[in-house]
Amino acid sequence: MTTQADERIAAGKATMRAMRLERPRPAGERPLTLTEIPRPEPGPGEVLIKVRTCGVCHTDLHIVEGELAPHRSPVVPGHEIVGEIVGFGEGDAPIALGTRVGVPWLWRACGTCRFCLRGDENLCENALFTGYDVDGGFAEYTVAPADFVYPLPEMDDLAVAPLLCAGIIGYRCLRLTGVVGAEAAGGAVRRLGLYGFGAAAHIAVQVAVHAGWEVFVFTRGAEHRALARELGAVWAGETADAPGGDAGLKLDAAIVFAPAGELALDALRALDRGGTVALGGIHSSPIPPIDYPLIYHERVLRSVANSTREDARELLAMTAETPIVTDVRVFELEQANDALLELKERRIRGAAVLRID
Ligand SMILES: [Zn+2]
Ligand SMILES: [Zn+2]
Repeated sequence: MTTQADERIAAGKATMRAMRLERPRPAGERPLTLTEIPRPEPGPGEVLIKVRTCGVCHTDLHIVEGELAPHRSPVVPGHEIVGEIVGFGEGDAPIALGTRVGVPWLWRACGTCRFCLRGDENLCENALFTGYDVDGGFAEYTVAPADFVYPLPEMDDLAVAPLLCAGIIGYRCLRLTGVVGAEAAGGAVRRLGLYGFGAAAHIAVQVAVHAGWEVFVFTRGAEHRALARELGAVWAGETADAPGGDAGLKLDAAIVFAPAGELALDALRALDRGGTVALGGIHSSPIPPIDYPLIYHERVLRSVANSTREDARELLAMTAETPIVTDVRVFELEQANDALLELKERRIRGAAVLRID
């Protein structure tokens, strides 16, 4: 039997390389700096993770450019972390060393506020977010609470990374619009619209198709429309188009992933009576005034914030049975600024992922 001391790693190197944000700046100014900083120490109940890959999410771009007010400075961004547990804090090993796990955006929820107590930990008033309130995965090592990391399905380290935010938030959007989960709508053919087609939508389209929905994708960019059709969308067009062109179809649900407020109106125009539009972004430009007929007949417009551990577990369990493919563009850790800029300029087809080891 190994002792705690045996199991706790004493790797030689006490520092690590990280791409760190000193202060928010436009992505074009290469705001992340390669630095050598102390390797983090796991506290009680936390695990030390050697990072293998980390996805680059649109939220990272909002943090780096200061569209989200800084919570910690300097900070190491990155919240789609894939790595291996190589150590843990005081106490018994919460998860076996060597386990491959993922760390998502929700780094920790308090468990005691009124939102946590009623099961809405995504709304926790004391939540900490990875790569925003605590250092994230654009680094060789990171720490996270053992209760908030997830064993990963059989997908390679690069392909699985985008599931950890893009996938999970997309899954929550699909759940809250009735496409998947316990309250999923059954019966006749149902139609879902996805507005904006980046990392989240390219995963969500596959989940929705698997759930039996017809998916219509609205996005600028011929390449994104081509990818949408490859991944199972029945139709792809411009954001202001009617679903299916002039086919006279209405959507039962829609999700807006792009951070442009006017898309909420495009989605409402395409939405059938009683349908729901979910806004999946953490940041958006203002939503223009809404003419009442656009929302009448019990149409619902709602935002989606963060995710719960249940969302993460459900998505990862589902992808273990239903293979999801991700279209990944690989960057080395040192190229994190390039990845952010490519993302900003919409030159990433699916998702950008940093390779770290
Ligand atoms: Zn809480
Ligand atoms: Zn994210």
